[in-house]
Order: sequence, then structure tokens, then C-alpha cells
Amino acid sequence: MQIINFTRIPSISFSPGHNPHVLLQPARKTSSLMCNHTSFLDDKEQTQNWNGLKFVRSKKLLKDLSTWDIGGPCNYFVEVFDQTQLVSAIRYCNEHSIWYIVIGKGSNCLFDDFGFNGCVILNRIVFLERKERGIYRVGSGFRFNTLGMQCSCEGFTGFEFASGIPGTVGGATYMNAGANGQETADVIDSVDIVTIEGKLQILNRNDLNFGYRSSTFQDMKDLAAIVAVTFQLQESASARRKQQEYLERRRMTQPLGDRTAGSVFQNPSGLGVAAAELIEKAGLKGFRVGGAMVSKVHANFFVNVGGSTSQDMLNLINLVKEKVDQKFSVLLKEEVLYFHPCCNQLSSNRDK
Ligand SMILES: Cc1cc2nc3c(=O)[nH]c(=O)nc-3n(C[C@H](O)[C@H](O)[C@H](O)COP(=O)(O)OP(=O)(O)OC[C@H]3O[C@@H](n4cnc5c(N)ncnc54)[C@H](O)[C@@H]3O)c2cc1C
Repeated sequence: MQIINFTRIPSISFSPGHNPHVLLQPARKTSSLMCNHTSFLDDKEQTQNWNGLKFVRSKKLLKDLSTWDIGGPCNYFVEVFDQTQLVSAIRYCNEHSIWYIVIGKGSNCLFDDFGFNGCVILNRIVFLERKERGIYRVGSGFRFNTLGMQCSCEGFTGFEFASGIPGTVGGATYMNAGANGQETADVIDSVDIVTIEGKLQILNRNDLNFGYRSSTFQDMKDLAAIVAVTFQLQESASARRKQQEYLERRRMTQPLGDRTAGSVFQNPSGLGVAAAELIEKAGLKGFRVGGAMVSKVHANFFVNVGGSTSQDMLNLINLVKEKVDQKFSVLLKEEVLYFHPCCNQLSSNRDK
């Protein structure tokens, strides 16, 4: 058996640098993965208590942790409510050589029907401190949407775009979430992280790089989790009005009540055209594979219309990508992140 020392699993995007062939085989056969949910789930006790933490074994469904409502059981599941619990959970996984991922609201994640052969750590570190005027230190499990609303109401600009984004502060920082010409990185002052050895580090904005939906954190080998983020915002009399306008526009143009993960693809750079426009022009609005459908409201949102499997969604993503490439010679790049059930196999492929 493979012995693993450092066990945090970064999410895998579909981008070319991240082994897309492993991830996006249209007719992926589970047998060839040497791992399915009957092989990695076991009949251990349903819960295990350790240092005040409750680990749920083999029962928690990832579909309940994702806005797409897709995903099978994970081998271990634990919720953490503060930094000490987070460090304990990481230590537990390290000591038992268990792979783990840290998630917020699962609003940018595609989990597999075969679940996850490791531990899912659900981040519920929720606090908000007002350090000085315009300086907020926020727990990474705090709702991003609420933060946006709160800061705008208090007369600060920078987070007007956050209303309607159903993620956490940690997820938004990791993804560098953005919209309406604003992005999370614009207002970050510093980020508190825990490393895979369980050590706390504070990283200043100057130490961090961000791009379009990308951040230093996505490539950090020793990151276990983001614990808190300090933001510095400027005063603005028009923040509240702008925030309401953006939210209203979202309500008019996005299928907010449906089971989606937001934009599936990034907008192609330098073309001046949005991914949604290309998908719509390729005639794919309403196009369906099983329970997965291109939204009729916004073509870059894919909806689980009921009973979508992860394979339905992967096939739809692949198909849309192919059709857009055939018609416009533009290769779309996924913004959503796919979590493979057998992370150890994938990870060893990634390391080659
Ligand atoms: C209706 C809808 C609208 C959306 N609109 C937008 C939009 O306008 N702009 C935009 O950018 N996105 C948008 N999204 C996508 C999504 O909400 C954002 O990417 C969000 O920031 C993800 O946050 P999360 O907490 O759900 O992260 P998750 O989906 O739980 O996780 C995403 C990634 O972040 C990592 N992560 C999460 N928390 C931590 C942590 N504490 N420490 C380390 N890693 C962590 C996870 O491991 C994973 O790799 C939308 C989604 C929906 C469903």
C-alpha cells in the first residue's frame, strides 16, 4: 500500500496543465480506476470521535455538500468550527494517512457519483471582526454573499459583486471569485493559512499572486486550508446602490433558483466574447445529457434538472467544449473543479 505523508488534495481543474485526459474521458470505466465506492467504503463504525471531533464514516453524501447536488459518499466527513478543530482534523488525516479536501459551500465543485476516497473537511469557521474603519478580518467559512451585503451596507466598496455568489470567503479567496469588473484579490490585505504540518502562517498581499479565477493557493504545495482573510476596503457612498444593481442584474440573467455551480467555463481571454455567448451561438441553450442541461437562462450555467450523474455533467461539459471548438475554434477552459474519487491514483499521475 502506498504510504502518503502529505495528504491534502488540491482540487483538480480541467485545464490542460492538470491532466485533462484522466479526467475527461467521456466513457470512463470505473473498473479501470481500481476504485469504486464499494471498495473504498468499509463497514467501520458510523462515527469516530477524536479530540472532540466527530468523523462520520462512509455515510455523508457529497451531493449534500454541493450546489450541483451531485456526488456519492465520502469515506470520512468532519465539520470544523474553529482553527483548533481544523488543525486537529488535519492532524488526524496525517496520522492516519488519509487524503483530505477542505470545502466551503461546494458551489464550484463537481463531485463524483463514486464519492471520495478520503476525508472531506467542511469549513464552518464563521466570524467577522472589524479591526479598523474599512478593515475586516473574516473567518474563511463566512458566507461571501453576506460579507458583500454587509460591507456595502456599511458604506464600503470592493464587495458589491459578491451578492448572489453562494460560496464562502475561503472558497472565494482560493478561486479569486469575481464579477462586474471586481475580484476578491482587489481588497485582500492578508490571509491566514494552516499548512499541511498544522502550522499557522500569515501571508501578506505582496506575497500572493492572483489572476482570473486563479490564486497562489491553487499551486501551494504546503497549504492545508485558508483560515481567515483580512480585507481593506475604501469608503464609497454608492456602494449599496451598486450592490443592489448587480444583484438585480444577476436575478434577471442567471438561473439562481436552479442547481448549478455558476459559470462552468472561464471567459476566453482576449476575444471580447463571453463563454455564454459562444455556447448560445452554437445553439446549445437547453441542450441536455441525461439529467444535465445547459441553462435556457444563461448558457454558461449547467443545471442538474433532476438526477444528473457526475458522468452526465462531465459528458455535457465535454460535448459543449467540442461543439464550441468545432464552430468557433475556441477551446473553452473549465472554471468548475472536478474531484476524482480516487485521489491517490490521480495525484500520482499529476506528479509524473
Ligand atoms: C449561482 C452561482 C453564482 C456564482 N457566481 C459566481 C460569480 O459571479 N463569480 C465567481 O467567481 N464565482 C461564482 N460562482 C462560483 C462559486 O460560488 C465561487 O467560486 C465561490 O467562491 C466558491 O466558494 P465555495 O465556498 O463554495 O468553495 P468550494 O466550491 O467549496 O471550493 C472551491 C475550491 O476552493 C477550495 N477551498 C474552499 N474553501 C477553502 C479553504 N478554507 N481553504 C482552502 N481551500 C478552500 C476547495 O478545496 C476547492 O478547491 C457562482 C456559483 C453559483 C452556484
